[in-house]
Amino acid sequence: MNTELAACPFCGGSGLLTVDPGDMSVGIGESYWSGCAKCEYSIPFRNEDDAVKWWNTRSLEDTLRAEIILLQTTLYLKRKELGTQGKKVNT
Ligand SMILES: [Zn+2]
Repeated sequence: MNTELAACPFCGGSGLLTVDPGDMSVGIGESYWSGCAKCEYSIPFRNEDDAVKWWNTRSLEDTLRAEIILLQTTLYLKRKELGTQGKKVNT
């Protein structure tokens, strides 16, 4: 499995996967932390696959990013349309 983490969804910093060996003397097993090297947000998982999959799967963010691009494009086209109409009125 690819263990490379995507950039942080909050700050854009590098994704970072760390392993905490735990302490079985107190009943805490190994944990895998997916997080950010820049803002230090992190969240633990019991196994590496879940940590990587959760961090790299961002359907909500991808949907919102696509919606932002659509809105920016619509705004650009409307501004261009209004700008063109304005010039026609002024000339
Ligand atoms: Zn971050």
